[in-house]
Amino acid sequence: MSKIIDGKTFAAEVRKKVAKHVEKMKSEYEITPGLAVILVGENPASQVYVRNKGKQTLEAGMNSYEHKLDAGVSEEKLLSVIDKLNTNPQVHGILCQLPLPSHINEDLVINAIAPEKDVDGFHISNVGLLNTGQKSIVPCTPLGCLLLLREQLGDLSGKTAVVIGRSNIVGKPMASLLLKENCTVTIVHSRTKKIEETCRKADILIAAIGQPEMVTARWVKPGAIIIDVGINRVPAPEKGQDKYKIVGDIDFKACEPIADAITPVPGGVGPMTIACLLANTITACCRINKLEPPEELTA
Ligand code: NDP
Repeated sequence: MSKIIDGKTFAAEVRKKVAKHVEKMKSEYEITPGLAVILVGENPASQVYVRNKGKQTLEAGMNSYEHKLDAGVSEEKLLSVIDKLNTNPQVHGILCQLPLPSHINEDLVINAIAPEKDVDGFHISNVGLLNTGQKSIVPCTPLGCLLLLREQLGDLSGKTAVVIGRSNIVGKPMASLLLKENCTVTIVHSRTKKIEETCRKADILIAAIGQPEMVTARWVKPGAIIIDVGINRVPAPEKGQDKYKIVGDIDFKACEPIADAITPVPGGVGPMTIACLLANTITACCRINKLEPPEELTA
């Protein structure tokens, strides 16, 4: 087991497995998996994400469909685009890049996507299926964390896991996934008392907080596996004036010597997210066509 978990290399392996499965879908069933991404407005970060998603979708051999809509687009128009994609047989996955402009109801949009094509795993049906231990499409970032953990540990059964953060996109689905893997799971958040003490009991510690380097050595049990989901942009005066760098929620330098294994930021969880989006598209495509999805790419 390597101490620094190399998410970049592992994500490349996941993408390779996806590409292999895409090839199989094409040659054996004459089906080309297709992913449609909707971008509303011109948020620079969202534009970068959507560009990368499109590029990696094509590289995996799938069809990529991009729908770019003006920031002022009406909710009705957006819903009609989703409706068309829901019934388009070439499209197996649909993702609407968040955040949406404030005049659009995000929950309404997320729940308008057909659950079987909801490759973000945010639809209320998929959330319900995950929380009742049934087959669902799982949000990409927690799925990425789970695949990294399985790679490190194999069986997670019986481990004590603490998830810091309770968001709908990371913390809660992460906790549900770990519970499904038979971990004993605690979620902590901004109102939790004695948070350090709770975290120090974790065999698996997952940080999804959005607070730069908040988790220090005192929070970590010796031998723990640490997964850092956080992406925080902080000033980097050592690089020059007005320069920034990306750090996680874990104080890497302080925690690395104590942990058995730890994800770096960048290069840990981040690259797994898009790889898992591609994995979810394969899963969706298989299930829509009544085929078994590749087990190694599902939760
Ligand atoms: P949210 O802001 O939605 O949730 C943050 C959670 O952290 C909340 O539950 C909040 O508690 C908790 N929290 C905040 N401050 C503290 C504190 N001081 N002590 C304890 N808990 C605290 O964030 P997300 O879940 O969307 O994202 C978390 C991080 O992960 C961010 O840095 C984000 O950029 C990153 N991220 C990375 C992805 C990737 O691909 N690698 C994908 C998605 C997110 P409360 O609920 O009580 O407010």
